[in-house]
Amino acid sequence: MIAITNVQKEKRWGTYRIPLSSFPAYQNASTFEALVIQVLPPKTQGKNNTTSRDIVVINQEKCPMIITLWNDFHLDEGQTIAQMVNTTPTLLCFKLRASTFNVLSLTTRPSSALIINAPTKTRDALRDWYQTNKEEIIGMIEGQAYKNTDILLPRPLEQTISTINQALRLFNKKFYTAWVKVKTTLAPSQSAFWFATCNNCQKSINGDVGPNIKCISCNQNVKLEARTRILLELTDSTGTITASVLATEAEKLIGVNAEALRTTEDQDVDLSTTIQNALKQHTIVAFLRKYDSTFQGRASEKYSIVKSYLIQDLLMNETPQRKAVPFEEITSEGHTEMTM
Ligand SMILES: [Zn+2]
Repeated sequence: MIAITNVQKEKRWGTYRIPLSSFPAYQNASTFEALVIQVLPPKTQGKNNTTSRDIVVINQEKCPMIITLWNDFHLDEGQTIAQMVNTTPTLLCFKLRASTFNVLSLTTRPSSALIINAPTKTRDALRDWYQTNKEEIIGMIEGQAYKNTDILLPRPLEQTISTINQALRLFNKKFYTAWVKVKTTLAPSQSAFWFATCNNCQKSINGDVGPNIKCISCNQNVKLEARTRILLELTDSTGTITASVLATEAEKLIGVNAEALRTTEDQDVDLSTTIQNALKQHTIVAFLRKYDSTFQGRASEKYSIVKSYLIQDLLMNETPQRKAVPFEEITSEGHTEMTM
């Protein structure tokens, strides 16, 4: 953890307000300031009893987002924030990592730094904004807007959508995510369209669906449930990319849920044809993420769909919910000029 004793470079962060939605383009989130509006209960995870706590922050972008505070950040800043959350403290955040784990969220890493109620020039404006919009913000938190994929990843502007070819070039650089407009087909040779997961932490577990077990990831007594996982080929005129899609994001494309996939699997039903037929009707605008995967000691890059919109739904509703940040506006440091 970096101890910042003297905040001198106010200009560096005072002139930038980074829209939260631009973070996933890089894994390194730029410096930003937000209000802490909720603190969730602490969690203990894994064999090493790693501790963490999720807090929810918001700024003028009205896109409430989870920051997961790990280990020392949980025990130090997390405790302080928990004690004063009723006062809606501001939080100045340095070097957080963007993650698509909770659709879109941020996490601390060892080099991150957090300053509570830092004396910034922008602090008062943030507080005034909160007072003016308090009712709406409280409503968003009660509705768990920080988990709502429509709010975290609203339909993108046309100019922020890449072709497959452009997306692959972005992934070859420092980008981890991209929006694409593609047709969907089923990737060949898939043995199963679902897997068993912990119903608490959603981690994959080998076992039968149903019985209570102790989950080694979240240390809770949990049930195993079926979770849909489909491998898709996404195609446009410039190329094809293979990407996985999970749970409700997969189910809305194929029209079948995980439990139905699990039970029909034993009945000698040709699920591939049913799924392929459903997929062939779709053109989607999808938010892809790149991730590193290691299987049998071999590392490779994979892609998954975090969120998608069916093109027919987009055509019915023309108004974008929020201005997305075009890639051109993001410089190599991951900073972007204030666009709001
Ligand atoms: Zn679990």
